[in-house]
Amino acid sequence: MPELPDLAIVAEAFNAALVDREVRSAEAPGPLAVRGTPAELQALVGQRLTDLRRRGKFLILQFDRDQVVVNPMLTGRFQLAKPGEKVPSKTAVVLGFGPRAKVPRGASAWARKGSWLPPDDADVEIRYRDPTQMGKLYLVPHGVERVVPGMAEGDLGPDADDPALTLDVWRQRIRRHPGELKNLLKNQGFIAGVGNAYSDEILHAARLLPFRKRADLAPEEVDALFAATRPTLTAAIEVLRKRVPPTFEKQVRDFLAVHDKGGTACPRCGTKISEVKPGGFVTSFCRGCQR
Ligand SMILES: [Zn+2]
Repeated sequence: MPELPDLAIVAEAFNAALVDREVRSAEAPGPLAVRGTPAELQALVGQRLTDLRRRGKFLILQFDRDQVVVNPMLTGRFQLAKPGEKVPSKTAVVLGFGPRAKVPRGASAWARKGSWLPPDDADVEIRYRDPTQMGKLYLVPHGVERVVPGMAEGDLGPDADDPALTLDVWRQRIRRHPGELKNLLKNQGFIAGVGNAYSDEILHAARLLPFRKRADLAPEEVDALFAATRPTLTAAIEVLRKRVPPTFEKQVRDFLAVHDKGGTACPRCGTKISEVKPGGFVTSFCRGCQR
């Protein structure tokens, strides 16, 4: 499932590749994934992409007039391609973009240097593909009230890597959530962007067990959880910037410390990593160094 670091890479790369380009074509080979009408999809043609960013586990494409919001859920993936390249199966939406004058000023430094960056005078496509069709692409035309599930007022807390999420804000917000730490980190209303994999990583970095309850934490443990959150995510983003492009649909997780590494040695203390699967989702942790 794409989480904050995965989507950060896609957002930074696609922002550098696509902003200031005009939509030339909009197709929906898998219309089930699209929330909106065919006319609303076609209305994107001729609009320039002015911004592309991530918020929580959503990708937001802002055009001159309208907006597109993608929630990739479990298996949604994005691909950057040359027009004419074979469109993979289970592709839900293809947006074709025309040339532009230059890479916009706001693009991330690492992405503007990418060898995969399409030339400014070339056409380029993005494809949104989803083998399970669980993810959704929401068309939000200007002036149309369309609530994107999970993005309504109060659904999303601050992004987990937002510098505005200070220790004081963290201490305030966490009071409302007495339950298990893993669920707390995955709760998008508390902080946005963390899911099943990175919650395990953050808890390992904080040396806290996933099924501990927040209500039972000492104040310094609440602070330790905060201290582990942003560095865990930003370190992953650093790795993914090098490992993911140009295959943006690839999910790279092999460098993680504990998640999905059950039975292997903990990189910190050498204890065999434990794994449980409540509800079919893997939770991994170390009994040696997490308490
Ligand atoms: Zn350990």
